[in-house]
Amino acid sequence: MIAKKMVSYVEGSSVIRAMFEEGKIMAQKFGAENVYDFSLGNPSVEPPVKVKESIINVLQSEKPNFVHGYMNNSGYESVREKIAKHLNDTFGTNFGVKNILMTVGAAGGLNVILKALIDPGDEVVVIAPYFVEYNNYIANYEGTVVKVNPNPPTFLPNLEEMEKKITARTKAVIINTPNNPTGVIYSEEVLKQMAEVLGKKQKEYGSSIYLIADEPYRELAFDGAEVPYLTKIYDNTIVGYSYSKSLSLPGERIGYLVMPDELDDAENIQAAANIANRILGFVNAPSLMQLAVAECVDEKTNIEAYDANRKLLYNSLTEMGFEVVKPEGAFYLWMKACEEDDKAFAAKAKEFNLLLVPGSSFAGPGYVRIAYCVSYDMIERSLAAFKKLADAYNLK
Ligand code: PLP
Repeated sequence: MIAKKMVSYVEGSSVIRAMFEEGKIMAQKFGAENVYDFSLGNPSVEPPVKVKESIINVLQSEKPNFVHGYMNNSGYESVREKIAKHLNDTFGTNFGVKNILMTVGAAGGLNVILKALIDPGDEVVVIAPYFVEYNNYIANYEGTVVKVNPNPPTFLPNLEEMEKKITARTKAVIINTPNNPTGVIYSEEVLKQMAEVLGKKQKEYGSSIYLIADEPYRELAFDGAEVPYLTKIYDNTIVGYSYSKSLSLPGERIGYLVMPDELDDAENIQAAANIANRILGFVNAPSLMQLAVAECVDEKTNIEAYDANRKLLYNSLTEMGFEVVKPEGAFYLWMKACEEDDKAFAAKAKEFNLLLVPGSSFAGPGYVRIAYCVSYDMIERSLAAFKKLADAYNLK
């Protein structure tokens, strides 16, 4: 018998699996070119050539026992130093080796920092709609999820509601900008207002409220949009970064946490995160990937490809009469469902071979998420199907 806690996880995950399996069956039935799968956030752009070159270079130039061996649980010092320097050069920060911990992607980083911070019953505030795996990560450490409701039409955080929901037990707030699933980027002004609210609440309760900035989409910002660096805005910020999307390496499981010295209890947090990385069973981030990404800190993904997809999809859907949030970053488009029940709307879309994820899977009912990290060609082919969907709801 599996653990009681796992039963609901297994049931929950089978919904996503069902969608994936259904896509495969549909591809067999209608032909892969006639099924438009916008469900997955798997990068469609290939990793920069330098990634492959760096992997080969590391294998050829370093000793095997170094490349494949254990190291400090926080990661190779040389790698953390290069990343700290890159951040300092880019954002004018002042990080050193001890502020960086190499992680098993953003997911690993979030688990490490939550393990380091959360006592049972501690509250973690999340801003809906959000990446729902946060629920599971927080539950792993018996924390309580406190949800701030979606704030249409901008989908920026509702700071008044956030303020009301912060209590003496609030240990952390997780934010994600550029955002999955909305594609929204929080401006510096909004983040400064958020920092003010958090600062005020820390004073009121005499507590430390950590802002966890989940940043796998940091590099995916369009039209020159700025993604402010949070550690400069709010002292108690921890940044979780990942190369999954920025270098198209989601299967390689590599990222890092930034834990600045300005954090309350910084030294203990850095030490606790190091131990958490070990005892959660990660031990350390993949060694070869650490060494390879350290050579690629200045590499950029082909953002033009995602931008072309974004423009084509946004313009076409708007033209057809759909209500869409204009994506500023990441590779997701957030579209209002044409009926109240987003699951029914996604089911209707499926009739036209369009696979869209119901917003309620992100605690954002009434909307659907369209992941446009797909080929341009598929988007072009899908437009006739979207038109049929628009006609089914008499849009325009
Ligand atoms: N956070 C958000 C908002 C994401 O969308 C994802 C993946 O899609 C993750 C974290 C996990 O990323 P990683 O593959 O780096 O663990």
